[in-house]
Amino acid sequence: MGLLEVKDVNKRFGGLQALGNVNLSVAENTCHAIIGPNGAGKSTLLNCLVGKLIPDTGSVMFDGQSVLGRTPFEINQMGISRVFQTPEIFGDLTVMENMLIPCFAKRDGSFALHGIRSVLSEGELRDQAEQMLDDVNMLDKRNMHSASMSRGDKRRLEMAMCLVQNPKLLLLDEPTAGMARADTNNTIDLLKEIKEKRDITIAIIEHDMHVVFSLAERITVLAQGTPLVEDTPENIKGHPKVKEAYLGE
Ligand code: ADP
Ligand code: MG
Repeated sequence: MGLLEVKDVNKRFGGLQALGNVNLSVAENTCHAIIGPNGAGKSTLLNCLVGKLIPDTGSVMFDGQSVLGRTPFEINQMGISRVFQTPEIFGDLTVMENMLIPCFAKRDGSFALHGIRSVLSEGELRDQAEQMLDDVNMLDKRNMHSASMSRGDKRRLEMAMCLVQNPKLLLLDEPTAGMARADTNNTIDLLKEIKEKRDITIAIIEHDMHVVFSLAERITVLAQGTPLVEDTPENIKGHPKVKEAYLGE
C-alpha cells in the first residue's frame, strides 16, 4: 500500500476525457515522476489530489484516508503540500511574510494577514521561516518584495513555503519550468538534500528529463489521460511505447 493510492480516477471537462481510469501508487519515501506530453492530464491529476478538482469517479487515498470531499486547506493539513505550475506567492508581501503564511497555517490551522504581520516579531515561527530560507539560500532576500524577484527565486520561495510545513507528500508541478540551467541544478540539489534529510515522499511532474532522471525512482508515463507505462528510470529510457508517445519517435 503506497502513501498515495489513486484508483480508477476519471475526470471529464465537457466532452473531453482529461483523465481515464488513472491508477497510481506512490510508495512512501520515494520520488515518483509523472511525465507525458502537453495536455496528457498531468496537472489535472495533481489538482484531483489536492482538492482543487473533484474526480467524476474513482478514489484518492492518502495515508489510509480519502482526500475526496475535503477542501484544499484540509488536504494540506493532512500533510500534502504542492508547488504549482505557475508560482502562487503573494507578490505584495515580502519573502519573509510569504514564508510565515504556511508556518502560521500549520501551527494555528488558519491564517490572517494581520496575524502574520504581528508574528513577524515572534521568535519561534520567525526562526522556523528563517532556517528554511537559509536552507534554500534565500535568507539575504528575506525583506525583498516578492513580486520583484526572478522567476527562479519565486519558485524557490514557493518550494520553501511548502517544505517549511514538513509535508509527508510534496507535489511538484514542473518546478524547474522557466528556470535557467544553474537554478535547475540548484533545485535538483535541494530536492536531493531534502530527500536525504527527511522522511518525505515526492511526486513530481517534470518535462526536463535531466531533472526526472536525477531524482525519480519510479516513473509513470501519462498519455491522453491514461497511464501508458510505469517503471524504473532505466526501463523507461528505452521503452518503445514511451519513445513513440512521449518523444515522438
Ligand atoms: P498537462 O498538465 O499534462 O499538460 P492538463 O492536465 O493541464 O495537461 O490538461 C489535460 C487536458 O484537459 C487538456 O486537453 C486541457 O486543455 C484540458 N483541461 C485542463 N483543465 C481544464 C479545465 N479547467 N477546463 C477544460 N479543459 C481543461
Ligand atoms: Mg500541466
